[in-house]
Amino acid sequence: QPHPKARAKRTRKIAVLTSGGDSAGMNAAVRAVVRQGIARGCETYIIREGWEGLVRGNATEPTPAVSRRPSAAPSPAFGPKSVGFAGLSALDLGARAHPAPSAPESHTAADPKAIAPLSDAPLSFGYGGLLRDGAGEGDPDEVAAAFAGHETIDTEEDDGGKTLKGRYIVRVGWDDVRGWLGEGGTLIGSSRCPSFRTREGRLKAAHNLIRYGIDCLAVCGGDGSLTGADKLRGEWPSLLAELHSNGDIDDEQLEAYRYLNIVGLVGSIDNDMSMTDLTIGADTALHRICEAVDSISSTASSHSRAFVIEVMGRHCGWLALMAGVATGADFIFIPEHPPTSDNWEKEMCDVLHQHRRIGKRKSIVIVAEGALDRNLKPIKADHVKQVLVEQLGLDTRVTTLGHTQRGGTPSAFDRILPTLQGVKAVEALLEATPETPSYMIGIQENKITKVPLLEAVAKTQAVAAAIESQDFALAMSYRDSEFRDMLEAFQVSSSLKTTDHLPENQRLRVGIIHVGAPAGGMNAATRQAVRYCHNRGHVPVAIYNGFDGLLEDNVAELSWLRVDNWNTRGGSELGTNRTLPTIDLGGVAAALQRHAIDALLLIGGFEAYSSILSLDTARKDYPSLHIPMIHLPATLSNNVPLTDFSLGSDTSLNALVLACDAIKQSASASRNRVFVVETQGGMSGYIATLGALAVGAVLLYTPEEGVSLRRLLDDVDFLKERYALDERGKSEGRLVIKSEKASSVYTTEFITKIFKEEGQELFDARSAQLGHTLQGGVPSPLDRCRAARLSLLSMQFLEKHAHPNSQAFHGRRKPGSDAAPETAVMIAIQRSKIVFASMDNVQRHSDMRLRRGTDVWWSGIKHLAEVMGGRAGLVQDS
Ligand code: ATP
Repeated sequence: QPHPKARAKRTRKIAVLTSGGDSAGMNAAVRAVVRQGIARGCETYIIREGWEGLVRGNATEPTPAVSRRPSAAPSPAFGPKSVGFAGLSALDLGARAHPAPSAPESHTAADPKAIAPLSDAPLSFGYGGLLRDGAGEGDPDEVAAAFAGHETIDTEEDDGGKTLKGRYIVRVGWDDVRGWLGEGGTLIGSSRCPSFRTREGRLKAAHNLIRYGIDCLAVCGGDGSLTGADKLRGEWPSLLAELHSNGDIDDEQLEAYRYLNIVGLVGSIDNDMSMTDLTIGADTALHRICEAVDSISSTASSHSRAFVIEVMGRHCGWLALMAGVATGADFIFIPEHPPTSDNWEKEMCDVLHQHRRIGKRKSIVIVAEGALDRNLKPIKADHVKQVLVEQLGLDTRVTTLGHTQRGGTPSAFDRILPTLQGVKAVEALLEATPETPSYMIGIQENKITKVPLLEAVAKTQAVAAAIESQDFALAMSYRDSEFRDMLEAFQVSSSLKTTDHLPENQRLRVGIIHVGAPAGGMNAATRQAVRYCHNRGHVPVAIYNGFDGLLEDNVAELSWLRVDNWNTRGGSELGTNRTLPTIDLGGVAAALQRHAIDALLLIGGFEAYSSILSLDTARKDYPSLHIPMIHLPATLSNNVPLTDFSLGSDTSLNALVLACDAIKQSASASRNRVFVVETQGGMSGYIATLGALAVGAVLLYTPEEGVSLRRLLDDVDFLKERYALDERGKSEGRLVIKSEKASSVYTTEFITKIFKEEGQELFDARSAQLGHTLQGGVPSPLDRCRAARLSLLSMQFLEKHAHPNSQAFHGRRKPGSDAAPETAVMIAIQRSKIVFASMDNVQRHSDMRLRRGTDVWWSGIKHLAEVMGGRAGLVQDS
């Protein structure tokens, strides 16, 4: 049994490392672990270069007493509610109470690597804290080198750990991770570590953890790294016993470190881990792929070329599939679903030939690096090219995207997800008991989850095993329903075959209309609907320019080819406006009858919802409205009730993140500037809240909470104290995010003036209004994919409920007859489920006056954003 008292007294020490292949969002995960750890009163450490750093440890011994000395909890700087900046840097409050373990006792003043006595150390900022606690004094060049990889493990002399130049286990503070949200890759370094695969290596790692008093470890990496983590935990008792019998640890240490708590965060661009819907870095990798394919598409079209594009994914075709859907590729190859026939060459050529025959000028084939045929023979890009050249005579080029997929600025999603998961990881570590297994933090059904790490790794390996045994149905069954829907969406949208046509007497005329403001993904949804119609023999009827257009008979059929590039286009190709059908319900009903519309797809935000409500109500008066109609939510505000996400909201968040990165750069260049950034979003604070979390804003104002004078006074105090703590001349720019409708009295201009006036010598203030830029240019991959899936399911719904030639049929019906209420619905994302919600149901969850839902899943995120920005108190339950 452990000594409960010893455990209770000790300050918990949490370390975080990144291992295996890097992925965008790892830095956000490290930042969240560090900040939430500090917020929970722990000491926080980073371990550089993954498992390698833990095996190597530091050249100098930590002060022996430190690792077991009970230490004072960091004192809050801003009253009991606030976490303040306790542990502002490694050398700040917490470190003064108890010297950092890396401070060697034997340094002399002449030693160039001497570390200043901690009690005399100035506050340190940015990376300075890392270095002073680590490799030397805070020389900015040295800091940059340490984190730019110049001081890598390869270049160091290893003579058994005695004279290692580097330090791998480094205490970090609050400000040491400032600005990390927007950095790609991993700033603390990663590596493959063969020695950690051996017991000897793990013994060294265990010893290093105990030397530094670390009893909680968060590991961010792929399945290999997490397998290593589980192994370390499984072996921990025997490793401890061996260290004890070797005399490396004493009795007290043996007792105090009897248990090691480990948690895994999945950093992997392939999205190949089971029991989590998305891994950290996958969304950013998809961004890079789509940017590349979009660029290639224009040159391919100019020269009428074919391109074969190889993307990453050894056992998982997620990237290739999503890229295929998002970019409108002609053909894809993924490991878990090989081409159906043995002669995949012919299968592919048939598809591409048909596309060319109707006039397509470009052909895009996407190949996952692990793609196989049914007989497990690898399908390689060069071979695909050869087939296209020889069998179709196409001028074909190969592009291997390679490491470009790993790099670059993390997407909004890859800042938000790792932040939420990092917080959850700290909670899981602190709640762990000897009986609980090691957990992996995932996301399932839009909820951050913790699942047994070993089970997740085992299930992941089961997919590879199923592929190896050629059981592709089993491999696909391990993928979630979204993956399967996406595959169907891709197949439907890329096929010109007529084999799936319905009999003549079951074919429909489906009207498609955009209503309200434009949003990213509207065109992609329309493209998928049009392709579905052609696939099934229906007629897609575009209604241009909203209900105004319908009343003017601005209506035309859409061809398969016409919509080919629409998934990459922002705005609304059909044209959209805010006119509601109530402008002339009789006229709308008559127009639908005139154009023989059997079913109606409305794509838009709150106006589209209001439209369908009016049409549903008017059904009693107009039999021609007795057609099934479905609302597909699309608005950047994400204010449509009942659905977790609407199309366009991800595009908008990404636009906000890019703009804020640029603004922050400018604010930082001026050293001490606060930027009040105003966002769109109507009466919904979704974009502002998620945006604040994604960009690391220090303050946030939303319509849900409003702004008060008391709050502004507190915020001014907060900013003053925060800037007062910054090192002279080294203040950074800070962001405040404000929804346009947070307050009609305390406007953006007013708040900015108050900050400017009160900041005096400490800080300056400016404002920026993002306005319509938030509608984004090119829709994000996530919005394009969501659009394809929701549109596919919407069309299937309409097909199921519609009657062919229904206007002739309804024309014979009398006014007053009822239409089935379930045929006027909204398609909504609820967790991982897609539901068709009746108008009654949607209304029950609507606040029509404020034009938003009555309950939202993201309401707790505001507090979390404020904790991560340093403004608010603890997040106990993420
Ligand atoms: P990626 O998805 O990018 O490949 P990964 O984490 O799966 O990431 P790996 O190279 O498999 O990458 O593993 C990274 C490190 O984790 C290895 O270098 C090794 O140190 C450790 N590791 C992997 N598998 C094991 C194992 N079975 N036992 C102990 N350690 C392991």
